[in-house]
Amino acid sequence: MQTENSIVPICPICGTASSWRQVVALPSALFGRSAKILQCANCKVGRTLPPPEAGREYYEDNARNDELFTQRATIYKKFAEEILTHLDGLRFRKGKLLDFGCGGGFVLEVALQHGYDAEGIELNLEMCSWCVERGLKVTSKNIDQLVSENALYDVIIFSSVLEHLEDPIAMLESCMRILAPDGVVVIAQANFEGLLPRLFPWGWYGWQPKEHFWHFSPVSLRCLCQRCNLQEIELIQGSLHHPWFTRGSPAVLVGRNFAALLARLGGKVGMGDNNYLLAKRIR
Ligand SMILES: [Zn+2]
Repeated sequence: MQTENSIVPICPICGTASSWRQVVALPSALFGRSAKILQCANCKVGRTLPPPEAGREYYEDNARNDELFTQRATIYKKFAEEILTHLDGLRFRKGKLLDFGCGGGFVLEVALQHGYDAEGIELNLEMCSWCVERGLKVTSKNIDQLVSENALYDVIIFSSVLEHLEDPIAMLESCMRILAPDGVVVIAQANFEGLLPRLFPWGWYGWQPKEHFWHFSPVSLRCLCQRCNLQEIELIQGSLHHPWFTRGSPAVLVGRNFAALLARLGGKVGMGDNNYLLAKRIR
C-alpha cells in the first residue's frame, strides 16, 4: 500500500505524527471528483485528499436542498427515529436538545414527538426558513452566540455533520461550552470500515469527496471523543440507506444491488456502514 507521509504528517484527529496509507482512489466518473482516501495508522481515521473545497459559503447556499430535504424526507425521518430510539434507550432526562447542523429538521420533529424540548442550528438560511415554517425552533446562530445567551443543552446531536468540518475537534470542543455538566452527545456517523466500503469501495456512496474531509470508524470516533473530553456510553451499529434497485442499465443494476447485498450482510456480521456513538463528558 502507498504511504503518504509527506502530504499529511500530523493527524489532526489523534494529534500524532502518524503514517498514512491509501485506502482507495475514487474516480471522478463515479464520485464527481477524483480523490484519494488515506487512513491514519494510529487512530484509523480516513482523510480525503485533496481536501474538499466546500466551506461555509457552500452550505449557506446549497441548491440541493429540495432534493435532500423534501424528496428524501422518508429516509431522513427513518434515521431520525433511529437516533431518538437509541437516545431513549439511555433513559436520560428529556430536557433541552440541540441538533447541530439540523438540515431539514427531521431529527427535531422526531425529538419533539419523543418529549424533548428540541431546537436546531443550521447554516443554510433557506433550510432555516423551511424548518421555521413547519413550526420548528431553528436559527443560524453560531456557538459563540449560544454561549453569550447562556444556552445549555442536555443533549447535543451531530448527525452526519463532523465529516463536513475541516476541524471537527475544534467544533466539538466549542460545543462542550453549551453542554450541561452531565449532558449527553450523540454522534451519528457513516462507518467507512463497514463491510460494503471495505469490499466494494466504488459502490459506497458514503465517501462524498466533494464534501467530506473525514471518514470515521468506531476506533477513530472514540479517539475523537477522547480528545474532546468525552467518554463513550455506547456505540451502536447501523446501516446507511441501501434500497434494492429495479431500474437502470445492467451495470448499474448489478453494481447497486451488489452494494445493497453487501450492506445487509455487513449489518449481520457486525460490520454495518453507519454508527451511533453516545457519549458523556469526562468529569
Ligand atoms: Zn490519527
